[in-house]
Amino acid sequence: MEVSFSKEVEALRLGHGQTFHGEGILAITKALLQSGVAYVGGYQGAPVSHLLDVMVQAEPYMRELGVHVEACANEASAAAMLGASIHYPLRGAVTWKSIVGTNVAADALSNLSSPGVTGGALIVVGEDYGEGASVIQERTHAYALKSSMLMLDPRPELGNMVRMVEEGFRLSEASNMPAMLELRIRACHVRGSFECKDNVAPAVSTRHPMAQPAAFDYVRLAHPPVTFGHEKLKVQQRIPAARRYIAEHGLNEVFAGNRFDDVGLIVQGGLYNTLMRGLQQLDLADAFGASAIPILALNVTFPTVPEEISAFCAGKRAVLVLEEGQPEYIEQDILSTLHRLDIQTALHGKDLLQATGEYTVEAIGAGLASFVERYLPQASTAAARAWLGANAERRAAVAAALGQPLPARPPGFCIGCPERPVFAALKLAQREVGPVHVAADIGCHALATFEPFSSGHSILGYGMSLASSAGVSPMMQRRVLSIMGDGGFWHNGLLTGVQSALFNGDDSVLLIMKNGYTSATGTQDIISTPDDEAKERAPDKQQSLVDRNTTIESTLKGLGVQWMRTVHTYRVAEMKATLQEAFTTDFKGLKVIVAEGECQLERQRRIRPWIAGLLKAGKRVVRVKYGVDEDVCTGDHACIRLSGCPTLTLKDNPDPLKVDPVATVIDGCVGCGLCGENAHAATLCPSFYRGEVVQNPKWHERLAAALRAPMLRLLRPA
Ligand code: SF4
Ligand code: SF4
Repeated sequence: MEVSFSKEVEALRLGHGQTFHGEGILAITKALLQSGVAYVGGYQGAPVSHLLDVMVQAEPYMRELGVHVEACANEASAAAMLGASIHYPLRGAVTWKSIVGTNVAADALSNLSSPGVTGGALIVVGEDYGEGASVIQERTHAYALKSSMLMLDPRPELGNMVRMVEEGFRLSEASNMPAMLELRIRACHVRGSFECKDNVAPAVSTRHPMAQPAAFDYVRLAHPPVTFGHEKLKVQQRIPAARRYIAEHGLNEVFAGNRFDDVGLIVQGGLYNTLMRGLQQLDLADAFGASAIPILALNVTFPTVPEEISAFCAGKRAVLVLEEGQPEYIEQDILSTLHRLDIQTALHGKDLLQATGEYTVEAIGAGLASFVERYLPQASTAAARAWLGANAERRAAVAAALGQPLPARPPGFCIGCPERPVFAALKLAQREVGPVHVAADIGCHALATFEPFSSGHSILGYGMSLASSAGVSPMMQRRVLSIMGDGGFWHNGLLTGVQSALFNGDDSVLLIMKNGYTSATGTQDIISTPDDEAKERAPDKQQSLVDRNTTIESTLKGLGVQWMRTVHTYRVAEMKATLQEAFTTDFKGLKVIVAEGECQLERQRRIRPWIAGLLKAGKRVVRVKYGVDEDVCTGDHACIRLSGCPTLTLKDNPDPLKVDPVATVIDGCVGCGLCGENAHAATLCPSFYRGEVVQNPKWHERLAAALRAPMLRLLRPA
């Protein structure tokens, strides 16, 4: 990966007496080192990729400390890594994006939670939920409940987040339960500062390894019959021990109210900042965080501590629980606690707040207004209601003007993305062979599910496309196409898809986007990423480098794939012909097309500093740009429907006799060549031209340009 985290790596070295400034996710990373973590692993995914990216780049410093860092193949391998903490007093942390990552890790998590841990085990999950989320809307909390894992949800303030990491390890050790620490997108990016402590080199580490393995202990295996005993341990010892630790160390926080003591709010720690903004809308909190209503902020949401709940609720007329997502696990938990203890406080939650979706300030404000109107008639909600009403009116006005609600603005492929041409070729191939069922997957190529491609019938998980076609394929007259990225291929697709398809003799087509990185998660390296040496050796740094690593092809060959083609993605006509061949060939069995083209984002990161260096040194640099001749453009926009590149767009027709806008290529075109390839493969109108922008030209080029300019002026119509 070409992104440098050198500043972040430096921040990890801060020690006692120094102040850390930065984002929440980096504060968490630093807190792991302050806690004496011995090993760190994970699988990248928003919003927690940064943790592992920084740890990987900090490898020399980790070696100094004796900390092992592993970029795991997937979340299951990361969860299994925590097995080190079952026998040994090693603190370990892993990270991934949830809910999807937790689903992948579920088997190992169950087998870890059953015997329990000796060393503290912490899983930092990026709860990708709500506005901007890129995965299914489910809650990680369910896993904490079913496997008896601790669930921490820290209030997003850097000092508190760091404390929760440190306490999370201790709590895990006190209860023998693995801990999950849930971070919402906003918590990862919240900025602030905290006073650092020195990092702690672990006692057992890569520098000081153990001389002997642990003695055989059957109880530490997740294997019947001891699993029956584990279940009892969870309920009778571990959860009570966790509750004791949480209460004794004050992990949850009570904030006194300065006006209304007879009502209260219980909030997941991670929602605290949004709650404060909501209270401000009702004039029930000031900008410094002083609330009119008492608040119990749960930094630990499982297990809750009945004594804390009862102490907070007893004597209050009503309490509102703010819990994001469904089902309302925490609300039900509190309800049963109050019922068992015969506390008559009225409890509200999802009856006043929206049942689904992210708890934004607006969503919380609406719920708070209903609660206040019911229990605090002396506090006016007029301003908040006016604000909520104005928001609703604004949306209605936009919908009325457009004749529909404001359209969503989905993301799209980057400019010059190597995957865009594949979907242009697929569109063209389907014109010849007819529409095919497309099993899509997770990754940048999933952006083809949006217009102008609208390609993909199902997404069943990361690397699961080929496996998901196994039931459809035999039911279709035409062959089914499964698409996965190289990231998905290594994450899961090789085994669940390819191996199964070969074993069962499936007659289908698999297209693997070989762009060289797990691009959608931030272009992290994988086993088939071209190594730095290859990059250095490349004679022309502008060329794609992914063809220098053939690990995918050799793996497929070794597994027994007999029909395989490697095609450069920008060669649209060749890709179209290869797809047609795969759909129609007499060969029965798995057909694999490796679509090769380096991730443009990563390529640009690589070549920009190189080009800047050439320009600084006064060397000649040629940049290719595409353009549209506005006099030739017919205005049918077939090129746009086939490309979707953001720099191929529209402008007013300069011809006053024509009303349709013409296509145009705006600044930003990286000259990937797709426009030319599409025009050729789809026999579009001849309006596209290819230009070369020469910087630091040679003397004869300057002379030619000087001679050409007056001639061109003469030829131009007056
Ligand atoms: S990150 Fe790379 S692969 Fe993903 S859309 Fe951008 S250019 Fe394409
Ligand atoms: S050549 Fe066409 S598709 Fe490629 S970056 Fe330029 S405008 Fe976009």
